[in-house]
Amino acid sequence: MPETTITHIRYRTVYDSRGVETLEVDVITEKGFGRVAAPFGAPGSRGEFEAPAYAPGGLRESMAILEKTLIPSLIGMDAAEQEKIDDILLQVDGTPNFEKIGGNTAAILSTAVGTAAADSLKIPMFKLFRKDEEWTLPYPLGNIIGGGAHSLGPAPDMQEHLIVPIGAKTVQQAIEINLRVHDQVGKLLERKDPGFAGGTDDENAWAANLNDVEALKILEEAADRISDEEGVEIRMGLDLAADRIWDPAGKVYKYDREGASRTTQRQLDFLGELIVRFNLIYVEDGFNSNDYDSFSLLNRNFGHRCLICADDVYASNYERTKTGIGKGSAGAMIIKPNQVGTITGAKQTISLAQSHGMKIILSHRSGETPDDSIAHLAVAWNALMIKTGVKGGERLAKLNELIRIEQAFEKAHLIKW
Ligand code: PGA
Ligand code: ZN
Repeated sequence: MPETTITHIRYRTVYDSRGVETLEVDVITEKGFGRVAAPFGAPGSRGEFEAPAYAPGGLRESMAILEKTLIPSLIGMDAAEQEKIDDILLQVDGTPNFEKIGGNTAAILSTAVGTAAADSLKIPMFKLFRKDEEWTLPYPLGNIIGGGAHSLGPAPDMQEHLIVPIGAKTVQQAIEINLRVHDQVGKLLERKDPGFAGGTDDENAWAANLNDVEALKILEEAADRISDEEGVEIRMGLDLAADRIWDPAGKVYKYDREGASRTTQRQLDFLGELIVRFNLIYVEDGFNSNDYDSFSLLNRNFGHRCLICADDVYASNYERTKTGIGKGSAGAMIIKPNQVGTITGAKQTISLAQSHGMKIILSHRSGETPDDSIAHLAVAWNALMIKTGVKGGERLAKLNELIRIEQAFEKAHLIKW
């Protein structure tokens, strides 16, 4: 029996970084072990088009399906044959988007199988999915000031105010710069807002009583200072997660903290103004996830200077990505393995996107676990960036793994920006 044959699968519920119950699986092979617990997007931020997290009856129903059908069909399979495993998951489910077993159920099995195969073969997981030695490390895209569905109380309307140190020489330097900017923003908030008590959101970004322009100004001040001290270019970006601020009845984007409403045209103008004023390099989900056309307009006008990124609109989904590519809607896309359900499914979407010149960003979820597989997948699949949040053990688990890969493999280097 090969060392990668699956002999046992165990499961249980544990708790994610938000303290929410989540499903964890252990995949045991003849010679190895893989354990993955599912991350989870925030209600109001999870994409409308992503695979549902669990079976229609919820987490308990997914556990019953695991016990009755999924585990028996995977025992005896070869964990090194990822495509075959992922095909079984799809067959057991019977729908293209994991509506019966849930994207989380599928994604943790798929990922734990990959982890167990790598462990059995005594290689790091990225090597399992990358046969040549083109190992590139992604830039860390750091969430510094939070808002939207990830925070409580008065906070910016947009979900994430981000930075990326595009001038960094190593992944470790880039990670350290993001941490320094995070600290610097904390100091500025303490000085400028007497009500600031050091609160952070789900992803450990600062939860500050600011509107979005004020947040960008503070972020710019902090980034400029650290950029000068380190001699490294740092650029800013946004994730609007615009589904949450979109009011379909009134057909406007509602900025409650700012006290403004914007029609789609005003939203387009506003984003253009912010891109120019703050020299943004990245704007994610600037429009609601049904509005491919506005993404296309923004991309046509600003794609040459700013990565217009699709998250909820493509939802890591092959067909939605194909539609978006046809319309020229984005220059970059977010990949979240549990949006699509399998490693193979994520890879298919990525290959399609990359063959059309799009950049890939591997992403965490707001509710996270210490699993570090997205770091390995980002290396294996030439992701330009990894979005993990800057602080917190569950975020740093992924970033620290990149530091280990950078140190251990001479051929692994930061990808060319
Ligand atoms: P989520 O947010 O994990 O809560 O969906 C992350 C994102 O929108 O990028
Ligand atoms: Zn997003």
